[in-house]
Amino acid sequence: MSVGVRVGIGWDLHRLAPGRRFPLGGVEVPHSKGPEGHSDGDPLLHAVADAVLGAAGLGDIGDRFPPTDPKWKGADSRALLKECLAAARALGWAPAQADCVVVLEQPKLGPHKDAIRKSVATALGLPGSAVNFKAKTAEGLGPVGAGDAVEAHAVVVLEPVRP
Ligand code: MG
Repeated sequence: MSVGVRVGIGWDLHRLAPGRRFPLGGVEVPHSKGPEGHSDGDPLLHAVADAVLGAAGLGDIGDRFPPTDPKWKGADSRALLKECLAAARALGWAPAQADCVVVLEQPKLGPHKDAIRKSVATALGLPGSAVNFKAKTAEGLGPVGAGDAVEAHAVVVLEPVRP
């Protein structure tokens, strides 16, 4: 199959716990709770990293960064994404575009949307105009709606590395 671009999808969900930092796409969101995780728990960067791996046909971040590996304890998820980008680049693929959704009840992300979009773009090595970010709520339904979890979705398009 000869294709000009590749598309990958990523999804993540993290339980929210009191007293944890709340990184979203690399932006620290002020809140009384934050995502639990072996790394910094940034669900959006995990979804983006999985989308990169998916587009490159490279599996998922669970394989690449096992929670049993002390190397990634408390790690900045931008470092995880960087490794995934390097693996995709080694196969000749570079990011072209991304679209992201975070589902979160509290806090409201309106004031942070632009910073998150720009931060994800920077992490992908893209101009801000190549990344879109959407914030949704779960309308009070399920664990996300109860404020006990945060969910993230991402689609990433990869294109051949420019010579
Ligand atoms: Mg995760």
